[in-house]
Amino acid sequence: MIHAYAASAPEADFEPFEYDPGELAADHVEVEVEFCGVCHSDLSMKKNDWGISQYPFVGGHEVAGRVAAVGDRVRGLEVGQRVGVGWTSGSCLRCDQCLSGYQNRCPDAEGTIVGRHGGFADRVRAQAAWCLPIPEGVSSVDCGPLFCGGLTVFNPLVENDIAPTARVAVVGIGGLGHMALQFANAWGCEVTAFSTSPEKEDEARQLGAHHFLNSRDEQALKSAAGSYDMVLVTVNASLDWDAYINTLRPGGTLHLVGAAEKIEATVFPLIAGQKSISASPTGAIVRAKEMLEFCARHDIKPLTEQYPMSQINEAMARLESGEARYRVVLKAGE
Ligand SMILES: [Zn+2]
Ligand SMILES: [Zn+2]
Repeated sequence: MIHAYAASAPEADFEPFEYDPGELAADHVEVEVEFCGVCHSDLSMKKNDWGISQYPFVGGHEVAGRVAAVGDRVRGLEVGQRVGVGWTSGSCLRCDQCLSGYQNRCPDAEGTIVGRHGGFADRVRAQAAWCLPIPEGVSSVDCGPLFCGGLTVFNPLVENDIAPTARVAVVGIGGLGHMALQFANAWGCEVTAFSTSPEKEDEARQLGAHHFLNSRDEQALKSAAGSYDMVLVTVNASLDWDAYINTLRPGGTLHLVGAAEKIEATVFPLIAGQKSISASPTGAIVRAKEMLEFCARHDIKPLTEQYPMSQINEAMARLESGEARYRVVLKAGE
């Protein structure tokens, strides 16, 4: 039996819950959860914001743990080895997306907390290909949030061919943005933090921002016209999109990883400056491996607040408050 925490309805608290996962599939791995990050998507799924949740709902898709058992056909992973599991826990591995290295875009990809039970538990299962070995130099305590949030903000640097000479702005200094600042700085970029909270300036600079812009200040936004090769939006709020597009250099990209409901923008500045609007979901398997190596090399880690997993409801409330600095992590077995 797997011992988990489940919510029985959108508004219900998480409570202890046991389930029998059945026989371990030949290409799957059972992971003993050591730490599991709490991501905003866990909250959205618990509340069924996207209409795809099933109850009892067991969230948790930022798992850092150890291989507890491997299926018969699994090669290259050993019991006891440290691994992580993120948003995706399986894909078909034979469609065009999978074969071209974009397993995260597989139409049949399985979400770790979608229609199955996730990592708010003592154990969780995933397809072996999606169990990512954690390199030495990356601690398990810190790395859970890398597997969803970290990958989500690392991926746009690669997908948009961001050069080390580029200027990058990160909109929103929270769970995602505070990791994005670290990545963009280590990438070599000139980094600007956009935040509505001026009190975050010192910390944003410590995390790698060279500049800080109070995004409530319309004049400051205006004076940043033509400044950035990529503006990475990590918030899910509706913004004055034209004002942000105006801060792009010609050829620049407004890249969205926060799910605002809608985007409305004037087309002409996009054409005139050959600017684009793009978006991306987490990242491919190889991208996750590159990200982990990059984190080890540059000592990048999320800032976390730790809770015992038994205090999952307090941890969720903390996440929902928006006050966490910056990522909430649960320690299993406590
Ligand atoms: Zn997530
Ligand atoms: Zn596929």
